[in-house]
Parts: sequence; structure tokens; C-alpha cells
Amino acid sequence: MLDPVNILLVTVLSSIMSLAILGSLRPARIPGVSRWIGAYVMASVALLLAGLQKLGVPVLTVFVSNTLLALAIVRVHEGCREFFGLRPRVNAAYAGCVVLAAGITWWYWVQPSLGARIAVVSAFHAAIYTSIGWLAWRCRPAARPVYSYRFVTMAAWFGAFAHALRGLMYGSGYVKQHNLLDFSPLNVAWLALGILVLPSLSIGMVLLAHDRMAERLERLANLDELTGALTRRAFLAQAGALLEAARNKKRRLTLAVVDIDHFKAVNDRYGHATGDRVLAQFGRIVNNGVRASDKFGRLGGEEFAVLFTDMTRDDAVRRLDELRRSILAVRRSADADASEDERGPQESLTFSAGVDEFHSSDTLATLMARADAALYLAKTRGRDCVVIA
Ligand code: GH3
Ligand code: MG
Ligand code: MG
Repeated sequence: MLDPVNILLVTVLSSIMSLAILGSLRPARIPGVSRWIGAYVMASVALLLAGLQKLGVPVLTVFVSNTLLALAIVRVHEGCREFFGLRPRVNAAYAGCVVLAAGITWWYWVQPSLGARIAVVSAFHAAIYTSIGWLAWRCRPAARPVYSYRFVTMAAWFGAFAHALRGLMYGSGYVKQHNLLDFSPLNVAWLALGILVLPSLSIGMVLLAHDRMAERLERLANLDELTGALTRRAFLAQAGALLEAARNKKRRLTLAVVDIDHFKAVNDRYGHATGDRVLAQFGRIVNNGVRASDKFGRLGGEEFAVLFTDMTRDDAVRRLDELRRSILAVRRSADADASEDERGPQESLTFSAGVDEFHSSDTLATLMARADAALYLAKTRGRDCVVIA
């Protein structure tokens, strides 16, 4: 069972099973998955070739299998970069493949040395695995559970460590061996550790893809489809949590309750579909105008709330006034481009807002009540203005 050939075959089988699982994730169009699938096809062929040493065709079983395996893990690396939203291709990795292919050619045909060959291949694998582990460590999206990302890092770094040690032992001449698939305990151990990284990594990739799908579902559940604002439930939950954190850390928070002026007239005059488009545009502008740390939610209909973090009431009023100006500017330019029939409520889209700052004795309900009362005042003062409670 512990024969190196068997280990290779088990790895090929597990790679094929990984392919089945990764293939099932393809329709979800998760970035990187197609590259991972390509990588595991290449790895399966490469490992199969490596297990066929007895064929006596070293071009296939030594040169092609090693080069193909190197390209496969470059592909895994590219898939990871794509998954994390980075430019997939890294030229240095391909340069590494060329060096590896040249090294194998030299140390097989020109100056035969199995130790040197193992050293160059192991060094290459160790470098790529280190980089994969680092990617998963560094690029985890904020607020996602760490499990799957740490799993990938641990699997990749474990593989990097095993390869580095194997490379050192063979490269330094500490271990001498004449045939790659010799049955010696040390050879079996290092071969197993080195190639078992591939199946472990494939499990990690499936975990990453699942986390990405969970993130998508959570986003769908928490975001209002039309405006891109948080749903009322998500806003209340996230704002409540921020308030609790601010109470302990004495952070400044300012809440604005925002209501579009005379929105019913927009619907009455231009139809509900135009009303929807105006709401969507309003949501886009506000989303672009607040920082990632702020919370923007749709409380219902054409009423919204923004929780500004680390901001005083006066700064929040300034920010809201800027938003009022951007909404007017965007609507004017949109209407200028629209045809006569599509033309919406030209200069008339304005909003009113009531604003107040969080005190340590506040609950979200008391803070909202004060901002709401200020909004009511803004409406009675003729709308298109921001009032501090
Ligand atoms: P005010 O300045 O006092 O706020 O006047 P208003 O017309 O904006 O306020 P009112 O509460 O009378 O009307 C709100 C309107 O918003 C009524 C409702 O049809 C419309 N509305 C609510 N949700 C949606 C939506 O999702 N799409 C569209 N098109 N209209 C909506
Ligand atoms: Mg309104
Ligand atoms: Mg309203």
C-alpha cells in the first residue's frame, strides 16, 4: 500500500474526485473555479505519467510529468489570485516553470543527478505553495469566517514546508537515491507529504467556493434589490451592533433619517417604473457618497437611514448637503441625455433629513425617534433641507 506508485495512484484518484466536486461548483461562476478545474486535470495526467516510470519513456514520465505538474500548481495559484480579485497571471511563476524544465533536462540527460532534480522541483513547489498560503492569509474578505481561509493557508504552508525540507535533504546530498520511485521509508514519507498537499488544497478550494456562495446569499438577504441599501432588518441589526460597540469605545456616531420629497408626485406623474428608476439612482448616489464604514439602509418606501461613523452632527450635515447637490447634478445630466418620453422629474428630486448624534444613554430606538422628529421639522420647514434635532 505504501508503495510510491500506489501513493501516486491514490492521489490521481482523489484529484479526479476533487474534479467532480469542483465541477459541480462551476455553474455558480465563482472566480477561479475554472482555473482550479484545469489545474486538477493537468495534475491528474502529470501524476499518472509519474507513476508510469516503468514504461521507460523518460521524456513522458520525467520531463512532461514534472513540467505539467508545475504548470498545474501555477494554475492553482492563478485560480486563487482570480478568486481573491487579483490579476491571475504572474510571469515569474512561468519563468520558474522554464527554469524547472531546464533543470530537469540538464540533470536527467546532461549530468544525471536525481538529488538535484528533486531539489529544483521541490524548491519550485515550495515557492508556489508559500504564495498560495500567503494569499489565503492576507486576502480573506473582512467579516468572513476564517475557517476555510486558514485551512488553505495551513495546507499550502504545510506543503511548502514538506517540499522545502525534501529539497534540502536531497539537494544537500544528505539523502541519496537512484530511482524516483524507490521504496525507502524516507522517500515514501516525503513523496506522500509532498503530493498529498494537492488533495488537501482541493478541499480548501471547495471550502473557499462555498464561503463565496454563502457570502452571496447573505448579501442577497441583506441588500435591498432596488436601491442597493441594506434592508430594514439588516440596517437595524448592523446599526444596533455599531451603537453597542460605540457605547463601550466612546466612538462618535451620527444618525440621519432621510425621506425623498414629494415622491408620490413622481409616481403619479411619470409612473411607478420611473419612480423605481429614480429610487435606484438615489440609492446608487448615496451608496457612492458614504464611506464603507457608514451604514445606509432603506427603512421602507422612499425613507432611508444613514449611520455615519466617527462623525459629528455638523460633519454629517455637510455630507448630506453634498449628497443633495450630487443628486441634483446627476438627475440633471441624466435628464439631458433622456428622450422626451423617458424624461423624469427634472430638477425636482430633493430630500429632507433629520440628524442627531448618539449619546451613551441612547438605544437605536431613542436615537431614531429624535432624528425622525427632526425630519418632521425639515418637512414642515418646506423640505429640501437637513435639520439637526
Ligand atoms: P413627502 O415630501 O411628505 O415625503 O411626500 P411624499 O410624496 O414623498 O410622501 P408619501 O409618504 O405621501 O408618499 C411616498 C410615496 O412613495 C408613496 C409610494 O407609492 C411611493 N413609494 C414607496 N415605495 C416605492 C417603490 O418601491 N417604488 C415606487 N415607484 N414608489 C414607491
Ligand atoms: Mg417622501
Ligand atoms: Mg415617506
